[in-house]
This record gives sequence, C-alpha cells and structure tokens, in this order.
Amino acid sequence: MPAQRVVVIGGGITGALCAWELQRAGHAVTLLEARHIGAGSSSRTAAGIRQQFSTPETVLGMRYSVDLYRRFPELVGGERSPLVQNGYLFLLEGDPAWEAAAGRVQVQRAVGLAEVELLRPQETVERFPWVDGERISGATWCPTDGFLRPEIVYNDALEAARRDGAAIHQGAEVDAARHQGGRIQAVQARGQWFEGDLFIDATNAWSPRLGRLLRATDLPIAPLKRYLWFLERGEAMDPATLQAMPLVITPPGAYCRPENAGSLMAGFAHPAEPEPDFDYDDQDRVEPAFFHRAGAEGKAVEAWLALAAYLPAVGEFAGITATTCGYYGTTPDHNPFLGFDPVVPNLLRLVGFSGHGAMFGPFSAAVALALVEAGHDLPEIRVLGRSASLAPFRLDRPLSGHGERMVI
Ligand SMILES: Cc1cc2nc3c(=O)[nH]c(=O)nc-3n(C[C@H](O)[C@H](O)[C@H](O)COP(=O)(O)OP(=O)(O)OC[C@H]3O[C@@H](n4cnc5c(N)ncnc54)[C@H](O)[C@@H]3O)c2cc1C
Repeated sequence: MPAQRVVVIGGGITGALCAWELQRAGHAVTLLEARHIGAGSSSRTAAGIRQQFSTPETVLGMRYSVDLYRRFPELVGGERSPLVQNGYLFLLEGDPAWEAAAGRVQVQRAVGLAEVELLRPQETVERFPWVDGERISGATWCPTDGFLRPEIVYNDALEAARRDGAAIHQGAEVDAARHQGGRIQAVQARGQWFEGDLFIDATNAWSPRLGRLLRATDLPIAPLKRYLWFLERGEAMDPATLQAMPLVITPPGAYCRPENAGSLMAGFAHPAEPEPDFDYDDQDRVEPAFFHRAGAEGKAVEAWLALAAYLPAVGEFAGITATTCGYYGTTPDHNPFLGFDPVVPNLLRLVGFSGHGAMFGPFSAAVALALVEAGHDLPEIRVLGRSASLAPFRLDRPLSGHGERMVI
C-alpha cells in the first residue's frame, strides 16, 4: 500500500508510539492532542510492564514491548531509557493459586519467556528477604519485567516522530468530523480541518465519546478511577534495597514498586462506578476515603496494611505522603480493542487498555503499522519470529468475560 496520510487522535503513550512507528515507516502523520502530550492516563500510571500474562498472544505481545522498550534510546535516537528492569514478583497464597501459577508459567515459557520462574516459599525468601515466607505458597518471578518512566516514552517518541516529519498539534481537541461515503474525510480541531486517508483513535478512556463524534461503533469501555499512593521509606529497609525492589503483587492485589530510593509507589484496585462524562480535572479529583490523610479507615492505609501483611518491612515505613489518580479505560474482558472500526472502515481503534496501556504501547504501535499497511484487519501479526493472533483484540470478538485473567 502506498504511503498514507494518517491522523492520530490522542497524545498519550499509544498515540505517541503509533505516530513514531508510522512516520518512520514512511507515512505522513498528523497527531492531534486535546490538551498537552501526556495529559491523560499516561502521566498518571504505575507504568508496570510485565510479560507474565495468561494467554499466549498477550505474553508474546508484551515480550515484543519489553524488547522494544529495551532498545528505545537507540531506536528513537534519545539519551534516556524508559525501562527499569527490576522484575515482577507475584506472591501466591494457597495451593490452588500455586497450581494456577504453574499452568501460566507453562503457557509463558511455551511462547519464549524462558526466564520466568516458579519459586517455592524458601527460594522466594532467599532472593527477597523482605517477603514473609510463612504467608505464601510460593511466587512467580520474571527478572526482565519491571516498570517504565512514561514521560520518556511519549516525549522522546514524539520528538523522534517530529524530526522525521510528523506534525504534532497540542491544544487541538477533535470536535467535529466530515464524512463521505461512510468514511471519515477530515476531522476538525481548533477550527482547522485535518484531512487524512486513515484516522487512529488513541484516546482510550475518552474513546466512547470520540466514537460518537466520529459515528463509529459504540465500544464498551468504562472509565474507572484508580489511585496510587507514595510511602516514605522506614528504617527497616535501606535505600539500595528499596531502589532495587521489583514490582510486587500481593495475593489480595495490593501492589508496590520503588519510585526512587526513598519512596515506594503503591496501588490497590477497588470497586468503582464508571464515569463516562469525566472531565480533565476529574482525573486528579481524590475522593475523601482515598486521600492519604483519610486516617486508619481510609483506603490508603488499607492498601498499606495489605502490603505489610506480606512485606513486613513495608509495614515499618514512615508514612504515606501523597495520592495521585487517573482513569483506566476498562473493557469487559480486560483486553484492548486493536482493529478497524466495523462501521467506519478508515478508522483504526487502539483503545480500552484497562490497566495495561503503558506496557501495550509498542505492541499496539506494531499492530497499527501492520493494519495500516494491510488496509484491513489481519488474523495475526508476526513479532519476534512468532505469530501473535489478533483474535483476542478484535472489535467484534465475543465479550463473554473469558478474557485476560492476570488483571490488577
Ligand atoms: C493509577 C493507574 C495505574 C496504572 N498502572 C498501569 C501499569 O502498571 N501498567 C500499564 O501498562 N498501564 C497502567 N495503567 C494504564 C495506562 O496508564 C493506560 O492504559 C495508558 O496510559 C493509556 O495510554 P493512551 O495513550 O492509550 O491513553 P491516554 O494516555 O489517556 O491518552 C489519551 C489522550 O487522548 C486525548 N484526547 C481525548 N479526547 C481527545 C479529542 N477529542 N481530541 C484530541 N485528543 C483527545 C487526551 O487528552 C489524552 O491525552 C494505569 C493507569 C492508572 C490510572
């Protein structure tokens, strides 16, 4: 297919990596971002990146993402690496959890994640002495997982795209569209029309609204509030140990990872009502129960106690110093939608990342490039010398709830 004029809507990790990938492949990219680059969830994320998923497609996709993020400075021509490979440690409690984890490790190894390990309690404590070995039946450990510095991803990818000739517009909210024969011909932002052959929806939690504006398929994406808290280091853990900690997931789902040598970032999912009409300012609105000074009954202390039950040294930390928050764009099966819109054939949707959009970024961009060049959906793409089926990510897949099981 000849070079396409591609208009990317949304300037978070997904939009930035797509713009960079498509522009360097020879397409002419225009990116339109309503506020500033990173104004959405991409600047409010824990940015964990793991290959320990439950389906072959996602494990393979995330292996591709880790590989690209590892080579990111060399590929984008930047100085900084966004990838901190401290590993991911899933703690397990009870025999059923151990058996399920053993099954997942088999799936993960079968698609090339050779370095993932299933550890007994004693092995876990030998490697990670800050874990309470009495509480767990074991752990899974992958040393090449870790977390990202998201601002490096979207800023450096877009700088590279701009150098290659992409046009990046900030303060450019798409608020109207012109159609011809069922296809989008142009979108409008700040009074100016931008024509394209292809349009990419990279607005994630905003996607249902943009979809209505573009007369596209109504995708079931629920904007759900998620919080992060920052705990100040205590005497029970030295700075070097804190800084080297992996991202740890405890059995109830409370998780943490180092922000730096003095601070631990923590999160804990909670039941939340979808907020389909959220505004930009709502992203930072902290409900009183979730504020870190809410006291012993508050959600921050609940998360801290859930961590401390498995990581006693964290229970000795000095206190909780800050709260941040943002939205997940959650789908019923926790897999994203990566594909052409069934109603608007020149609209590619890359949305609904639930808690996984930062890690999906490079894989989403690889899918975008393959589909843009094909001009239609594909059953699979090749990454790292293997085929990754795109069936779990199609827009018209059955949303039976049998999707990704490794959800945080
Ligand atoms: C607390 C929290 C923890 C998380 N932890 C993780 C994690 O550990 N690992 C992980 O991989 N993911 C995690 N996520 C999810 C991840 O952050 C998101 O999935 C990811 O950032 C989505 O990136 P995006 O570029 O698709 O969307 P966003 O970063 O939200 O960007 C969408 C952009 O679209 C713009 N936009 C919207 N409407 C329009 C319009 N009409 N015109 C132009 N622009 C528009 C917005 O301004 C926004 O900048 C977490 C999220 C939260 C909130």
